[in-house]
Amino acid sequence: MGNIVAIVGRPNVGKSTLYNRLVGERDAITDDFSGVTRDRKYGFCEWNGKRFTVVDTGGFVHGSDDVFESAIRQQVRIALEEAAVVIFMVDAQTGITDLDDSMAKLLRRSTKPVYLVVNKVDNHRRLLEANEFYSMGFENVFFVASINGTGTGDLLDEVVEHIENMEELETPLPRFAIVGRPNVGKSSLTNALLEEDRNIVTPIAGTTRDPTHSHYNKYGKEFILIDTAGIRKKTKVEEDLEFYSVMRAIRAVENSDVCLLVIDAKDGLESQDQNIIRLAQKRHKGLVILVNKWDLVQNKETNTPRDYELAIRNKIAPFNDVPILFISVLEKQRIFQAIEAAMEVHENRSRRIKTSELNDTFLPIIEQTPPPSVKGRYPKFKYVTQLPTPYPSFAFFVNNPNWVRDSYVQFLENKLRETYNFTGVPIEVYMRSKT
Ligand code: GDP
Ligand code: GDP
Repeated sequence: MGNIVAIVGRPNVGKSTLYNRLVGERDAITDDFSGVTRDRKYGFCEWNGKRFTVVDTGGFVHGSDDVFESAIRQQVRIALEEAAVVIFMVDAQTGITDLDDSMAKLLRRSTKPVYLVVNKVDNHRRLLEANEFYSMGFENVFFVASINGTGTGDLLDEVVEHIENMEELETPLPRFAIVGRPNVGKSSLTNALLEEDRNIVTPIAGTTRDPTHSHYNKYGKEFILIDTAGIRKKTKVEEDLEFYSVMRAIRAVENSDVCLLVIDAKDGLESQDQNIIRLAQKRHKGLVILVNKWDLVQNKETNTPRDYELAIRNKIAPFNDVPILFISVLEKQRIFQAIEAAMEVHENRSRRIKTSELNDTFLPIIEQTPPPSVKGRYPKFKYVTQLPTPYPSFAFFVNNPNWVRDSYVQFLENKLRETYNFTGVPIEVYMRSKT
């Protein structure tokens, strides 16, 4: 299942215009892969209370027609495999092209929901012309103008019917996802953990019946492991490999409670890793960073874990209250500690604090370090309570939320983190009005 909505289509039909409308420039995460593809973007969208990730599959810009077509077909295949819903975009201005037809052939075979979205229907005349697209044989057809948003709301209303809020599913076991760039050691880690138990797929409620979900139950620890391994066998093309790995990573993050982000000690934290961290943070997933291949780091006196760790923390600030472990899958070093760290983060994410306890702690803190004034007005805090979300979120009730500065919200978050253990967990702190 997973909560990915993929937008596919040939170049210039308006995919990224729709994407920007859904996600907004501010929250766009761009993976700029080198090569013939344009940037692929993915970001977070919320509609009718459903939360999901939108992927703009980009489109190919250069290359001979042959390369171009086979590459786009491959892109469609990957999107079909990984996404929950596919938006297939075509262009009313140009009409149906051969490439549209060949993509349609692949998409019609899919058992997943595919929405044919005819874009650039800017006026009534276009709408009449756009009727030709019904001949493509899709059940779900929408006419939109992404440039001004006409019709996109109706489209989304239907699309989100296929989305489940994963974080609200009842799951008896914690779900850990192993994510990271290719070659950092994800498969090795998965294999080391699962050993002979590999490929045991469990019918436990709340886990998808998915070959990437395994049930781990050893040494007193029990959880669902979601791995993104096994990507390489499917493709020889570097570009596709990267696309696969990004799609898989997003899906794994979506399905998880805690992400174990594996990085290669020699390469450090790269921009794609930071994208994953941002995604995990936005989706309120727990996070553990595993610096693998520590065995390869020569001269551990000058490259101390402490300095290395500090460099990572600086890079991922402000969300840097995160466990960072130095492991070697090859030498089986600290693998079990990695699991323990993930377990602890999961516990932290599930932490619930009584309202009375919160108030006993926080009203004195606020009294001791009162909020600064905004234009001469002083906010007055009444009480604080934890909200019933699947991740930690807190509401501070105050006479006027607009009088509370961002810096003071950050101060309150820091105090929450100092007082209770929320290591590895993104938390939300809201100001709510109470007179
Ligand atoms: P992509 O290559 O599929 O991502 O396409 P873009 O989003 O970059 O859009 C290609 C061009 O189509 C841009 O010049 C957009 O401004 C234009 N465009 C996108 N949506 C609409 C629309 O609804 N109406 C019109 N007239 N132009 C649009
Ligand atoms: P994936 O693409 O992230 O799944 O990475 P793999 O698990 O396939 O590992 C990529 C390469 O790194 C393989 O050659 C592994 O043997 C090697 N590798 C994995 N973990 C370690 C480690 O801790 N130390 C060293 N030296 N090599 C490792």
